[in-house]
Amino acid sequence: MSTTYESVGNALHGAPKENIPLSIPCVGPEEEALLRDCVATNFISTVGPYVDAFERRLADYAGVSHAVAVASGTAALHTALLCAGVKPNDEVLVSTLTFIAPANAIRYVGAHPVFIDAEPRYWQMDVELSAAFLNVCCDWRGGELINRATGRRVSAILPVHVLGHPADIAPLVELAQKYNLRLIEDAAEALGAKYRGESVGKAADVACLSFNGNKIVTTGGGGAILTNNDVLADQARYITTQAKDDSLAYVHGSVGYNYRLTNLQAAVGCAQLDKLEQFVASRRAHAEYYCQALSDWPCTVWRESPNAFATHWLSAIELSGRGETALDLAHRLKTRGIETRPLWQPLHRSPAHRGAQAVLSGVADRLADSVLCLPSSPQLTAEKRAYVVQELRRETLARAA
Ligand SMILES: *Cc1c(COP(=O)(O)O)cnc(C)c1O
Repeated sequence: MSTTYESVGNALHGAPKENIPLSIPCVGPEEEALLRDCVATNFISTVGPYVDAFERRLADYAGVSHAVAVASGTAALHTALLCAGVKPNDEVLVSTLTFIAPANAIRYVGAHPVFIDAEPRYWQMDVELSAAFLNVCCDWRGGELINRATGRRVSAILPVHVLGHPADIAPLVELAQKYNLRLIEDAAEALGAKYRGESVGKAADVACLSFNGNKIVTTGGGGAILTNNDVLADQARYITTQAKDDSLAYVHGSVGYNYRLTNLQAAVGCAQLDKLEQFVASRRAHAEYYCQALSDWPCTVWRESPNAFATHWLSAIELSGRGETALDLAHRLKTRGIETRPLWQPLHRSPAHRGAQAVLSGVADRLADSVLCLPSSPQLTAEKRAYVVQELRRETLARAA
């Protein structure tokens, strides 16, 4: 194919022919029409019909009684932890292989993360390691679970649905019940995912979504919490609107936050929700294509567990026996105009969370070196996908030579 030589030439001259992003927003006339309506009606701020509609539709979609829209996924996590009753000096079990936001939110409330490694098959928080930590490293004292090493109370489990593949929630629900812990799901990458046929976010006390620009649906920036708990939902609305008790007298019952989503953002969200199924179908089709096209290539294509319907927020491959890291390969693909990335620095290695306890098996460290995330935007064309695969294959040949 002539593109082969062209793109080598382009790469040498620093001008990639293609520009294939990892995951970008997909907006159009539908979003524009609703934004115009906000301007026409002057409902552009935190009150307005689109905020209400967006919350109602999110709750209905997930099959829960309440959704509270907030300014970001990180704000959703912070709010969820506060409303779930996680207190300063508590400890929260959280996946080590994830974007840093959930661990940061744990610190915002003055609590401490205990990082749990990933299981090797689907890369989600390892349930057996979690159980071992709770069973072996903690004592039951006066109705509370105390981590023997730190003397601190363990109060919650915060699994992340990594890359939009549901974590194994059922045994985590059992653990939470057994030890009287709150369960908080980080479903930021997983809107549209199902666990045992049900939408994620239903099984926990509270679940969190993100509508950041690179997520499954976007509002430009935003988030939401989902819950079946009426008291928790009221409290979330209250603290995300500055804990205002009396809107005329400006009496505030506690230290609140300005965390609400605007009607402008919610309007974009409403238009995006109409396309949710289509977005998830596109991302899943990309994963399926990469899986087939790379079946004879030295990598393991990441799969779905039998009880899961994943969003495949990002398609990902585990490089095997290549003698180079995913980061090296990402740098080289960048010169061909292809944006890829490794997973995340595992949080037990993060300078931001130095000193936190971790329960490790080595899986997250291995995956952090070896997993490459591939372009996955809904609007990625079949031609561009094929180009990604072609360039990946060329990289292998180049290294073998
Ligand atoms: C994106 C993301 C968040 C944070 O969401 P923001 O809207 O960017 O604040 C939290 N957790 C996970 C797992 C994410 O991927």
